[in-house]
Amino acid sequence: MVVVARDITEQKRIEKEFTEAKIFAELATEIAEEAKSKAEDAVKAKQQFLANMSHEIRTPMNAIIGFTKVLLKTDLTAKQREYLVAIKLSGDSLIVLINDILDLAKVDAGKMIFEEIPFKMEASISAMLHLFETKIREKNLELVKEYDDKIPRVLLGDPVRLHQIILNLVSNAVKFTSKGRITVSARLLEENTDNVNIEFAVTDTGIGIGDNKIKKIFENFQQASSDTSRLYGGTGLGLAIVKQLVEPQGGSISVKSRINEGSTFSFILNFKKTNAEADLDMEMAELDGESKNIKVLVVEDIALNQLLMKTLLDDFGFERDIAANGKIAIEKLQAKSYDVILMDLQMPEMNGFEATEYIRNKLNSTIPIIALTADVTTVDLAKCKAVGMNDYIAKPVDERLLYSKIMSIIKKPQLIKNSGSQEDMHIINKQVKCIDLEYLIHRTKADPKLMIEMISLYLEQTPPLVKAMKQSLVDKDWKLLHSVVHKMIPSFSIMGISSDFENMAKKIQGYANTRQQSDLIHDMALQLENVCTQACKELEIELSMIKKTNA
Ligand code: ADP
Repeated sequence: MVVVARDITEQKRIEKEFTEAKIFAELATEIAEEAKSKAEDAVKAKQQFLANMSHEIRTPMNAIIGFTKVLLKTDLTAKQREYLVAIKLSGDSLIVLINDILDLAKVDAGKMIFEEIPFKMEASISAMLHLFETKIREKNLELVKEYDDKIPRVLLGDPVRLHQIILNLVSNAVKFTSKGRITVSARLLEENTDNVNIEFAVTDTGIGIGDNKIKKIFENFQQASSDTSRLYGGTGLGLAIVKQLVEPQGGSISVKSRINEGSTFSFILNFKKTNAEADLDMEMAELDGESKNIKVLVVEDIALNQLLMKTLLDDFGFERDIAANGKIAIEKLQAKSYDVILMDLQMPEMNGFEATEYIRNKLNSTIPIIALTADVTTVDLAKCKAVGMNDYIAKPVDERLLYSKIMSIIKKPQLIKNSGSQEDMHIINKQVKCIDLEYLIHRTKADPKLMIEMISLYLEQTPPLVKAMKQSLVDKDWKLLHSVVHKMIPSFSIMGISSDFENMAKKIQGYANTRQQSDLIHDMALQLENVCTQACKELEIELSMIKKTNA
């Protein structure tokens, strides 16, 4: 008998250690994962907190700044004006601070997203420099723009961020310069078939920065000297943000400065070339006419903001309705037609995202929707786009920006893009006198099916209405006359028939009520009959054209 005995104590020990090590490793991974997810949660929570806080702070700020602006337009004594200007300036700087903190939080969370959209570089820079004109004049400085003609007119990039960078640098230059000039330049460094490399520089003749401090100024909350804040204000966040806006885009930023002589901040950025036309959005529309008959639905829950929007829209001469939440907005939308919706995002009952989704998917409406956002985190903006909003505007709302956004979104000929027959329609519209399909094209977003439906409806309804109108006059049936004319009224504006006829119809109604002026009634009714007959003729032609081009 052979007994083979082996001491496996060591083996067992190793096995045990191995199992233990494995358990530990698993445990460690678990702990690490938990820590990671906790850290991620913390970042998310921080971002959420900042977004919520900024919303909470910006909403009342929006009202404060907005109403200050409204008040500034009224008759005031010099003292009152001075105090109000001070309130407005403080409000503005508070908003800048909140935005800065939010931006840094976004960078921290890796949420800073850079867009690539076509924009006109020179126009964009000029528009921004206009903002400094008053300040520069007040300080008796000179502003010089040096723009390299070789830079292609339209480029692909993020104009908002570019604005933000130059804005920060120029406002520092203005702040730290008491005499001399500020030069803003853009120079083409390199160009190949797809890209251009541009160097931007902001040079001032101001106080300059000492060698010992120059390395630090791009860090958070760093100022060149301890009395900077007392003398010039600021928080030391501007340049930190500028750096965070330049570097992630693959750019670089540098500074040269001499105490008491001045500073030059320059940065280099790459832009893609494009054949696309620039978006109209960046261009400021002037606050002038052609804004009549624009119906705006404001969806906003906070009473102060509602009142502010009312004041602004009344100033523009727009018609406006207010809905306190998404649900009410949808009801209003079903009862009446609007040209554009201004949609707050956070609301009780039904928020802006839910409402937009409903409008797009359930009501199948393509009405332009501009989001009113207090927290411009990229997360929100992506969500706005995802649910089908067309644009956004940050609160506190800048009235010129609001105006230009509304005008460009309404005018933006999306119609032209999706209808080949648009050109023809314009030509026909010019030749005829009585109808103008511009409005109908706009309302139907040039959807040929809808246009055919609406024109057919008009052609079906109008002749019997004209006939009934004539008959009611013969029978002196004023009640019938009133109701027939009432049915005619909306179609005048829909078919672009001169508002004179609409007014005439309303007068007929008035006379029908009082049963007076029967001669005048006959005369006006005849004119209505003529214009309706003419409109029908013209619409028949239009209808067959639309049917033909869309067959
Ligand atoms: P803030 O302007 O809010 O203090 P910034 O980050 O924009 O913060 O600037 C940081 C510091 O860099 C400023 O406080 C100032 O000391 C210095 N600095 C920035 N730009 C200039 C300039 N054009 N001339 C002189 N000093 C400047």
